[in-house]
Formats: sequence, structure tokens, C-alpha cells
Amino acid sequence: MQKLLLIDNSIVIINVLKDLFAKKNDYEVFVAKSLEEAKNLMNFHKFFVSISNLVLPDALNGELLSLLKANQIPTIVLTSKIDSETISKIKRNEVIDYISKESIYELQKAYRLANLLLYIKNMEVLIVDDSATVISQLKNSLETLLLNVNIANSGKSALKELEKNQKISLIITDYHMDEMNGLEFIKKVRKGNINNTLPILVMTSDNSNELKVDLYKNGATDFLVKPLLVEELKAKIFDIFLNMKQITDIQKFTEIIDKNVIISSTDANGTITKVSEAFCKISGYTKEELIGQNHKIVRHPSMSTKFYDELWNTITSGKVWKGEIKNISKNKESYWVYVVIEPVFDNKGNISGFTSIREDITDKKKIYELSITDGLTSLFNRRYFNDSATVYMQNCLRDNAYFGFLILDIDNFKKYNDTYGHQKGDTVLKKVADAIKEVFKREEDLVFRLGGEEFGILISAKKEDDIKLLAEKARKSIESLGIEHKNNKPYSVVTASFGLTILKDVNKHIDEVYSLSDELLYKAKERGRNQVFFAP
Ligand code: GH3
Ligand code: MG
Ligand code: MG
Repeated sequence: MQKLLLIDNSIVIINVLKDLFAKKNDYEVFVAKSLEEAKNLMNFHKFFVSISNLVLPDALNGELLSLLKANQIPTIVLTSKIDSETISKIKRNEVIDYISKESIYELQKAYRLANLLLYIKNMEVLIVDDSATVISQLKNSLETLLLNVNIANSGKSALKELEKNQKISLIITDYHMDEMNGLEFIKKVRKGNINNTLPILVMTSDNSNELKVDLYKNGATDFLVKPLLVEELKAKIFDIFLNMKQITDIQKFTEIIDKNVIISSTDANGTITKVSEAFCKISGYTKEELIGQNHKIVRHPSMSTKFYDELWNTITSGKVWKGEIKNISKNKESYWVYVVIEPVFDNKGNISGFTSIREDITDKKKIYELSITDGLTSLFNRRYFNDSATVYMQNCLRDNAYFGFLILDIDNFKKYNDTYGHQKGDTVLKKVADAIKEVFKREEDLVFRLGGEEFGILISAKKEDDIKLLAEKARKSIESLGIEHKNNKPYSVVTASFGLTILKDVNKHIDEVYSLSDELLYKAKERGRNQVFFAP
């Protein structure tokens, strides 16, 4: 934080300025209401800038400006009357600028000037002129603005200086120079697109339009009429640096966003037109690989078509879509994002494309996924069954579909462990889990390991028979694994028994459905195992 010294005895002025500076955290503001107080503060602090009145009751004869000058504090003068005598007094003391304290607009100007000063401090300026008098006048004025001044006596040496000093951010050049005039000099500077954005102010006593057009066309930024008016010089310099500051501020802001926010834009068909660096990073693709591709490039195969249909319906009807999406990266790793997708409209009100902002929620999702996954089989666990079964059943009812709940339990598994060992038992559990998953691989089927050697499946189908067929297929697929289990008589391979409940249009509590399937499973065991039993 820089220290700013405010010298005035008006409480109103002090409060207005203090409020303005409080908005930004760039300055620590100190207030002096008299010459004495100002002196005191200067003994203890180093001030970057001062905003000061010309006269105070204890400083009626310019003592304030002399004190500020002696302490080398750049000063913006507050004055109530701007007559020629005041102006010449101020000029002698080389202040940054003088402003009237009569209007709030002018006070805001003081605030803007102080902020601009922070930005332009130590920036490099190049003066090109063959007159020592002009150079010295310019140098003085520029130095009061805290600028670093470089000097060249001719266009030729200015070009050398530019090559040597890459930091130069403003050129002020004379037009009438013997060896190379201002126009030729500008042409040379602008040649080859080097330093294309470097502002160039041209000083000329020739005010002809023809010359101005020629200079503008060749890259002059603005003009200064000779003999120079310090006020005009400062106003133009402030203007140029203010523009520069705004551009760099925007660039910095855009850079931060590009690096940290996962953004993409597409046309109305979903073809990618723009992506941020953060988008490239998380997806593993380069900008070139993404632009021109359909956004589907990051679509994870496990996300249902139904999900994307709903998303697409929302945004094509002109609404915003928000939600969590699983995406897939170039090297096939999945990542989760929270996405906000907004339609973009053209000036006729038609959708011309979509823009999305995403937040990486992969870690959060990974933790959640771990918490709902069974470690041995990678199926969903009991906890997730408890969380999701009721909603699953209700969705089936709502969609007018059949709802099936299938429980299966491996037959004589205790004997298997006793015969082949616990380790081999685990392998069987994994193989059985894979076999079931293979049968119930539709997105709408959810497979759980409910505990021990017991599994559960939530099924949704348009036809009742489809559920029965799937259950039978699962039974068959376990038997067909052909895993030896000599104590599982009479099959001698690993088998399982199943209990199946199918509902439609009946709203039951999930616990009741669970008990029903469990009872049916018990019956399947009673009847000789390795079969599916369902209520007629
Ligand atoms: P039934 O045909 O009546 O189901 O007989 P069963 O032996 O399978 O039934 P029971 O409930 O008596 O025994 C279940 C066995 O499952 C007991 C236990 O050793 C085994 N088991 C449970 N969890 C695991 C596990 O994570 N790994 C292994 N290897 N065995 C398990
Ligand atoms: Mg059991
Ligand atoms: Mg069992």
C-alpha cells in the first residue's frame, strides 16, 4: 500500500476524498489540516503522492508547495480560484496537476489521477527532438508525472534507443527535424508491425489538415501543437496512459479467467468455437484439437442419452441448464464438472450458440463414488441402495413402467469357503458380480452388493416379461461360469437362488418390497436352489 497525504482544512473535502480512496485498497490516507501537521507527518512517513490545498491559515504564502517540493512529494493541487497568478505559482513548483475543489467531478479527477500515477510511475517515455529547449521543458513536465525520460536528438538515434530499450511505452516526437522528419520516423517505427501499439504523440507548429491526415495514416496517435501548452500535454498523456491501463487491466483479467475457469462456446449445433486454457487442461486436448469438433468429444459413455436429451431440450428452448456432468478426457480419464450452460442469442433473438462455465468437482465426486461403492466387487453398496431405491421405484411408477426388485444369494457359499478357502471365495464373489453386471448393463438397471454373498438389482422395464427374462438370464450366466463347487449338490458348480418382486401402479414401502423378494428367495432355496422364484 502506498501512503497518500491529504492537506486541507475543509472537513467536507477531506471526507469526500477519503471516501473515494477507501473504495480501493491501494492507498493508506493521512490527513493534515495545517502546515504544522503536514510537517509532522512528513517526518514519520514517506508519501507517494499528496493532494494539497495551496493556502492554509498557517501557510498563506506558498509554504505548503515549497514544503512538498522540498520533500519531493508529487502533488495534485486543490484550489478554489484558478487565476493566472495562482497558475504561475503552481507551475513554478511543478505539480502533477491542479484541480478545482468546487465540483465533485474535479475531486473525482484527483482520485483518478492518483490512481493513474500508481500505474505510470517509472514508465519509460522517449522524447525525440532536435531542440534542447523543448527537450528540457518536456523533460521537466514529464518528470513531475513520475515518468522516466529518455532523450534522442534525431530520428536515427531514437530508432537505436527503441531497439535498446524495449520498455519504452510512449514516444513524443517533433515533426520538424533536419535529418529525418517526424513522419519518416513514425513510418520506420511502425514498419514490420514492431511496436505497433506503442503510442506516438507528434509535436508540430504546422497545423495543416493535410499533414495531420498523413501522420494519422502512418500511425500517429495524437498531436501536440507547438508552442506546447503544459495542460494539453498532461491531459493527452493522462489519456494515453489511462487507455493503456484499461487495456492491460482487461488483458490481465481475461488471462486469469482463461487460466482458471473452464469455459467453452459452441455454435447452435454444438460445434466448439472457443475454449479456455482451463478447459484444455481438464480435457487433455489442445485448443486446435477442440475447435471445430462437436462438444460430444468430452461426453462420457456412461451418461445416458435421456440425460443429454433433457439438457439439449432445455437449452434449445432458450433456457439455462445447470447440473453435474461426467466428462471424459483425451486419455480416457473421467472427470466431473458442475456446469452452467447458457444459450447465446443473435440480435434477431435466435439462438446462435451456447456458452458454458464449468467447475471441476471431480474430487468431491470421487469421494462420494467411493462412499457408495463396494470395494471388493465395484458394485454399488448397501448404503447407496438405501439412498436410491425409493426414488428409483417412484420414477418407475411415474414413467408408467414395471418396477422389479431382484435379490440373489449364492448357494451353499459357506461350504465353498470351507472347501476352497476364503480367498477363492472372494474371487467367486467378483466373478459373480461381473456376470450379473454383464446381464444388467442397461443404464436404467442398478446392481448392488447388499452384503456377504447377497446381491440386489433394481430393474425398470416396459414389459413384465422382460424383467423375468433378465432374472433367468442372470441365473443362467452364473451357472455357466462353471466354477467348480463340488459341495453344491446336485449342480457341482457355483449357482445362486433368486427372489423377484415386480410391481406396477402399486405404491409400496421399499422395506416391504425388500421383504417380499427375500421371502421369495427363501422359497427358491427351499425348492432346491439355482432358480428364480417370483410371486404369481
Ligand atoms: P445358502 O445356500 O442357504 O445361502 O447357504 P450359504 O452357505 O450360502 O449361506 P450362509 O448364510 O449360511 O453363509 C453365507 C456365507 O458367505 C458365510 C460367509 O463365510 C460367506 N461370506 C460372506 N461374505 C463373504 C466375503 O466377503 N468373502 C467370502 N469369501 N465369503 C463371504
Ligand atoms: Mg446369504
Ligand atoms: Mg448363500
